[in-house]
Amino acid sequence: MMRGLIVLAVLFVTVYGKEKFEGHQVLHIIPKDQIQLSLLKDLEDMIELQLDFWRGVTDVVIPVDVRVPLHSWQPVRMYLEAQNIEYSIMIKDLQVMLDEEQQEMNSTTQTDPPRNIDSFNYSTYHTLSEVCTCTLFGALATERIQTPSLFSVMLFIRLFPQIENRILEMLKITGGTNRPAIWIDTGIHSREWVTQASGTWFAKKIVTDYGTDPALTAILNNMDILLEIVTNPDGFYYTHNSHRMWRKTRKPNPGSSCVGVDLNRNWDAGFGGPGASSNSCSETYRGPSPHSESEVKAIFDFVKSHGNIKAFISIHSYSQMLLYPYGYTTTPVRDQAELHSLAKKAVEVLASLYGTKYRYGSTIKTIYQVSGGSVDWAYSQGIKYSYTFELRDTGFYGFVLPANQIIPTAKETWLALMAIMDHIYKNLYASGKT
Ligand SMILES: [Zn+2]
Repeated sequence: MMRGLIVLAVLFVTVYGKEKFEGHQVLHIIPKDQIQLSLLKDLEDMIELQLDFWRGVTDVVIPVDVRVPLHSWQPVRMYLEAQNIEYSIMIKDLQVMLDEEQQEMNSTTQTDPPRNIDSFNYSTYHTLSEVCTCTLFGALATERIQTPSLFSVMLFIRLFPQIENRILEMLKITGGTNRPAIWIDTGIHSREWVTQASGTWFAKKIVTDYGTDPALTAILNNMDILLEIVTNPDGFYYTHNSHRMWRKTRKPNPGSSCVGVDLNRNWDAGFGGPGASSNSCSETYRGPSPHSESEVKAIFDFVKSHGNIKAFISIHSYSQMLLYPYGYTTTPVRDQAELHSLAKKAVEVLASLYGTKYRYGSTIKTIYQVSGGSVDWAYSQGIKYSYTFELRDTGFYGFVLPANQIIPTAKETWLALMAIMDHIYKNLYASGKT
């Protein structure tokens, strides 16, 4: 019966509009010791409370952020208070923040598609149709006419024609053929909106700085940059139209009422191990088998056939970290010393702009155990410079970062990306598995 009601509720939302988060609070909890840690892990497993862990339970003193629906507020508060676990309220009413976010978007909506890359508004959040080929990418492609050798927009797969009919697009910024390349993706988790917004700003930055910034010009004269801005298009569409907090894909799971796979748990790198779920209702559901999801398979095939990708950088939010492999094992990577010192350099230059502090290190030691992650897979393919970014913030707005932080976030991240790309360009290595 309960499941039937949930299905009905989901249908209602699908037909009649967006999921509301009225009275949902986001709690910020710092576990003080091992006992509190294990009590919070128990809370994670209480499916009936429908809690959404924005930052999962990892270790003592590492913050946990959790969205609590109104109907679970009383039992959660009683549980925490009975166990003497201290918490603070990070977000008092999520719907109030989402209304503000929507108002901001409405007030800046452009009626006409941008004629060129300068007329696109980079300081607001955009829908899928505003970012895709019809608008921003279209404007970027026009730029190609002015700098014919530099730029190409590549559509590289049509996803799910039988389900949602969205296209996975990649920008290829290139000045030649058969060149080594740097891969950058944003938005693999659809609700991490500051990442797709930063990705659009990176595209403009690359096009406008070519020929004026000597470091970027040198990189682009020798290497391609591949930019996949909306890596989870169905999920991204869904965050705008139905459920702002959606993370996974939108593919139905056979035999389950729960939809979607976590695209950053679906790779053939420790697939199925701890740090991913086999439960299709979990936010970290890994999928039935490695590369089972079309979005993942598309990148897998592309990277394999390209054969000359030197860096694989995947951009997430939030928590301000720069991470290198591995996520699924504590065994250090062969290039740990170099990856670590380059991460240090990148976070220092990032902080130089606005003082934004990042933690850095291997994924498993710095954030938590993740199995089936894309960056671990990329490293296993011989792509030495494989990094994950977690952008702003550290638990103030979380996934609902105000639009006025988009450009500052993109600008500081760009400095870190440039430090990494400059190092790669100056330290090109031969392809082949490490
Ligand atoms: Zn993410």
